[in-house]
Order: sequence, then structure tokens, then C-alpha cells
Amino acid sequence: MNLTNISTVKDVLSRHGFSFSKGLGQNFIINPDICPKIAEYGNAQAGYGILEIGTGIGVLTKELALRADRVSAVEIDTRLLPVLAETLDGLDNIKIYNEDVMKADLHRIIAEDFAGLRAAVCANLPYYITSPVIMLLLESRLPIDSITVMVQKEAAQRLCAAVGSRESGAITVGVNYYGEVKKLFDVSRGSFMPAPNVDSAVIRIDLHKELPLSQEDEKFFFSVVKAGFSQRRKTLANALSSNMGIAKQEVYDTLASLGLNEQSRIEALTMEQLTAFSKALSSRV
Ligand code: SAM
Repeated sequence: MNLTNISTVKDVLSRHGFSFSKGLGQNFIINPDICPKIAEYGNAQAGYGILEIGTGIGVLTKELALRADRVSAVEIDTRLLPVLAETLDGLDNIKIYNEDVMKADLHRIIAEDFAGLRAAVCANLPYYITSPVIMLLLESRLPIDSITVMVQKEAAQRLCAAVGSRESGAITVGVNYYGEVKKLFDVSRGSFMPAPNVDSAVIRIDLHKELPLSQEDEKFFFSVVKAGFSQRRKTLANALSSNMGIAKQEVYDTLASLGLNEQSRIEALTMEQLTAFSKALSSRV
């Protein structure tokens, strides 16, 4: 079944009485060029198990299953199960979990379904939970090589901004802490059914083999990042004193010890400067 043929898709959906849920971010890919590209950039190849989040009618799932050894997909919408039984019929390396990705046991899925394989995540993410899903995947330290996802263009810009630039945010730092992120290609709104109001882009995060900080230092680092970006126009000293109760002088002294301007804002610091700052500050407070 050609899952990018509009009349085929409309026919299968209407036979199952399916109507799109805006709340679940259901914009399905109908541009035939997109899913093969996501699969190829996203490590869908022999020797890999791919975890997909949000199958829709399975247009990406199918491309992943044609290339990777196994595909396990988490889809929250129960109404899609009979649709998927039809659209993915004949592909025997796919397992669908009818669950909320935020609650699913992704470690278990990967361990059980992908034993002996390398693993990666590919998805056209539901936009209402883009950042929470990405941070969940990263923070839960899944044994995966990469995360290749379609997100809204604005989200892609923020995720792929340089840490230390005005376009960066707490999510930029979060993602760069865990991996190397790059934008792969843009996708116009007309590539989806129904068409959303914004364009999209596909990004890939290649996970670091080793993280910059120990687990204890990491907790403090993320508190600093959260506090700093919650008042990003203020100096770090002001933001950390009002949000974390840290004496401004300690912040000034820590910045000075690293050769940084005492009046620095968080958005001016690079990843290396931020991790060094957080490490040095945590040993003082
Ligand atoms: N992969 C399909 C495609 O590209 O055509 C569908 C992508 S659509 C943007 C997002 C999908 O995620 C929908 O099928 C939606 O039902 C599902 N979804 C939304 N929230 C979810 C959640 N919390 N857990 C799992 N799936 C979810």
C-alpha cells in the first residue's frame, strides 16, 4: 500500500472512521521524499533496532522496517491500531506499543526487542511534546546512538543554535550536553496531511559516548542552566542569587577565576565555559 498517496490514505482512514486529532499533533507525512530520507539519516540499517515515537498510519514505520532489523513503535492513539494492522501488513519486524511515550518503559523495549542490535530513535514528533520527549530520551540515558526527529522549524532553530548565542536556550544547552545536534533538512508544511500552520525541519542528535560531567556535578549544572535561562536577560549573578540563593560575590569570583566577565549572562557562555563554571561554583557553595 502506498502510504504517501493521498487518495489511498484518505480511503484507508475513512474505512476505519478515523478523524485527525489536533490535540495529539496528528499531521501525517504525505511527501514521498521525506520518510526514506529520515530513515537513511537516522541509522535505519542492518544491525539496528529503531524505536519510533508516534506511528500515525505507519508511513515512516514502513520505511524504517524496510531498512532496519527491527522497529518498535510507541503510539498513544488506540484508534490507529486497526489501521496499522492493514497498512503494515506483511512486515514482520515491527512491534507496536499502544502507550504514551512519556510513560512507556523505553529501556525495557530496547533491551528486549533489540537484543544484540545497536539502537536509534527516529520520529516525526507530535509537536505539543517535542522538548519533553527529546529531554526524556536524553535524560533517561537510553543505549542509543542517535535521535533523528522532525520538529517545528522554530524548535529546530533553537535546538541547533550555538550554545553561547542569543538564539540558544535551556533546551539548547540540554541537548548539547548529551550529544552533537545538527539540522539535516527543511520540510514544508505542504508535506503533511492535514497541513500544519508552520514549516518543519529534521534534526539529528548523535549522542556523546561520554558525558562532560559526573552525575553529581550534572544535577547542579542543570539547576544552574534552569535558573540562568529563567532570567536570561539578567546577569548570571543576579539570576543565580534570586533563583538558587547563591551569593552574588561567589558568582563574580567564580566567573573571574575562569577569566570571564563578572557581568556575564548565561546566554553568552559556551558549553565548555558553562560546564567549567558550574563545576567551579559547586565546589564553592
Ligand atoms: N509518524 C507519522 C507520520 O509521520 O506520518 C505520524 C506523526 S504525527 C506528527 C505524531 C504521532 O504521534 C501521531 O500518530 C500521534 O497519535 C502520536 N502521539 C501523540 N502523542 C503521543 C504520545 N504521548 N505518545 C505516543 N504517541 C503519541
